[in-house]
Amino acid sequence: MGADLDLQPLPKAELHQHLDGAMRVETAVALAAVAGTSLTADEARRRMVAPDRCASQAELLRYFELPISLLQTERALRRVAAELVADLVADGVRYAEIRWAPRLHLEGGLSVGEVITAVAVGIAEAAAAIGPRTPLIGLIVSAMRSHPPAANVQLAHDAVAFGPPVVGFDLAGDEAGFPAPPHAAAFVVAREGGLGLSVHAGEVPGVEHIVEALDLGARRIAHGVTAIDDPALVQRLRELDVTLDLCPTSNVQSGVVSGLGAHPAARLHRAGVSVTLSTDDRTVSGTTLSAELARTAAALRLSRAELAQIALNGFRRGFAPSGMRAPLIAEAERAWSSWATRTARPAHPTRTARAG
Ligand SMILES: [Zn+2]
Repeated sequence: MGADLDLQPLPKAELHQHLDGAMRVETAVALAAVAGTSLTADEARRRMVAPDRCASQAELLRYFELPISLLQTERALRRVAAELVADLVADGVRYAEIRWAPRLHLEGGLSVGEVITAVAVGIAEAAAAIGPRTPLIGLIVSAMRSHPPAANVQLAHDAVAFGPPVVGFDLAGDEAGFPAPPHAAAFVVAREGGLGLSVHAGEVPGVEHIVEALDLGARRIAHGVTAIDDPALVQRLRELDVTLDLCPTSNVQSGVVSGLGAHPAARLHRAGVSVTLSTDDRTVSGTTLSAELARTAAALRLSRAELAQIALNGFRRGFAPSGMRAPLIAEAERAWSSWATRTARPAHPTRTARAG
């Protein structure tokens, strides 16, 4: 399939994207102005859009410093959440989970509860303005690997207490520098509170961090790219029916794969592992979900049926209650199965010249 495949009109689900990494460049400039700092669009782009290839995951994480520093007020959080909803609509996304780490947004004096409220209000305001085309959106609260375990236990309590639209709990941040096991207690709180569990792992070499994520009870692994190196782990993921939320462009940027053509998404899918595709970060990775699906399908020579299966996994593996996702799953199954069985059109349709 061609990389220029237009998948925008198809209903899509996105399970792995970060609020801060999706901040629009022009919004960064505007928020800096509100904060009394001068920031040009070029400077914002240089600090927010990562190169095609970074030296490491740790280097990639530096592109979040500017957006996080600008997201320290209720107003800024609301605005960026609302704009992300508009961007999801433009991308044809019908179900989305948005994650971010509330404890990174406390420098302006907000509490964790106020940070979560601001994001939820921004989404509700966007939904009211957009109407029925608004996707169903769940929030995932991310704990940072580098934060004190006790603080993350409290964060889990706050996430559970907030209730809907919070549907999940996650662990994110520097994977090589900070192990997951110290945060096990936070994951017990989140699980007992009914939240879906996700852990970022397998974004740096080695499979031990994926094993640690499974030990925390993760039902979904954010990335999990390195699993392909260990057949026993691939089998375990299949048996546990754990989903890998892969982000191919981001995975190339972090250096965990050498290029899109070497990405293991197709091999994992063909080995029977549940995989989904996401942007990770619309701005940092300079992509959309439609583009990500098209690029990956082209680079890995996915068949239409394979791409449809992977796209549908996003709806099926979401953390929002199944009753809320059911109509979206039915809509997506109809659309993708009709697309998958359609005769492949030429990659570059020529426009028929009209006489007169
Ligand atoms: Zn991520």
